[in-house]
Amino acid sequence: MEIPTIAKEAEKKGLDLIGTGDILNPKWLRHVKEETTQRDGYLEKDSVKFVPTTEVEDQDRIHHLIIFPDLEAVEEAYSDFQKLSDDIRREGRPRINASGEKIVDIAKKHDCLIGPCHAFTPYTAIYGRKNCLKECYGDQVENLDFLELGLSADSQMASRISDHDDLVFLSNSDAHSPWPHRLGREFNRADLSDENFEGLKKLFHGEAGEIKLNVGLDPREGKYHCSACNSCHQKYSLEQAKEFDWKCQECSGSIKKGVKDRVEELSDKDSDYPVDYLHLPPLAKIIQYTVGHASPTTKTVQKRYKALNEEFGSEADILVQISIEKLSEVDEQVAESIKKFRNDDIVMIPGGGGNYGERIIPENEQERKNIMEEKASEIECRYEK
Ligand SMILES: [Zn+2]
Ligand SMILES: [Zn+2]
Repeated sequence: MEIPTIAKEAEKKGLDLIGTGDILNPKWLRHVKEETTQRDGYLEKDSVKFVPTTEVEDQDRIHHLIIFPDLEAVEEAYSDFQKLSDDIRREGRPRINASGEKIVDIAKKHDCLIGPCHAFTPYTAIYGRKNCLKECYGDQVENLDFLELGLSADSQMASRISDHDDLVFLSNSDAHSPWPHRLGREFNRADLSDENFEGLKKLFHGEAGEIKLNVGLDPREGKYHCSACNSCHQKYSLEQAKEFDWKCQECSGSIKKGVKDRVEELSDKDSDYPVDYLHLPPLAKIIQYTVGHASPTTKTVQKRYKALNEEFGSEADILVQISIEKLSEVDEQVAESIKKFRNDDIVMIPGGGGNYGERIIPENEQERKNIMEEKASEIECRYEK
């Protein structure tokens, strides 16, 4: 996961602007400096643009995403943050011994953009710890620039909370590996006035540019989507879990509250976000499901990925833009799967209690209906004796 590899893989994925991640780490900063050329508001490597970014963890274990205008700002912010951190020299995501409010204050002093990371992750994010933005950010809540959804939520879920009304939602991938099913596994499509930091700033502040589409995993795939037993994974509705005092009726294990029900508790309105959220796994995963292999890195999957990628150039375009007819000319079977994902003609059995969700690609509409009927209680996350 180094800059030359990321830049090479990003081109195949069709990613134009990428966050470096971990930029407060001194070794990584040195690597980024060596491998990129600093331009006006971005860092360049081959035809790919980077902006300096990092996650930081606050005193309550809540994670925040910071986007820096340039490497000078990174170094200036580093000198402020290191006074509050014991591990900033060695960690990728440093722990800052300060509140979310103080961290926004420091970020703003250096003209950075900032927002909560993977906001609905149960353990290390704002809604795992707090009940509203203000509880974490205090008076600095006004200065938030965006909200990162994370793999466990989509914009439909997040827009049910009126606290988020003025925030742009980001579906970032937070990749820890350059494999095509990791890098850009979630991404944002936007028209930017400038493809750089200023362009992002104007986009977040509603001054110029427009988010066109959020693309990401189906939140139902997540390990903690439904409320479910930590030991036997039996699912429960929020009412049932409360009624049983969060004790599993099958095995007497404890029921872990799911993201879906956390949103239910926090929500105060219907979802109304104006930008579509497309539930799409990465192309290598779609090919994996289509051929029925256990991993997206098998030779067959990679070969078919390469054939599509070489013909069309960008995975993002293959997933959301290029017509099914055109895709069929290269790989009819995979094109058919992409069509089903685009139309949401698949069945998701949601995850919960630490168990991932399971997706089924039905052969036809009748099969889809049969599965929906057969697995109704699991799909709707209810307990039935
Ligand atoms: Zn994080
Ligand atoms: Zn159980």
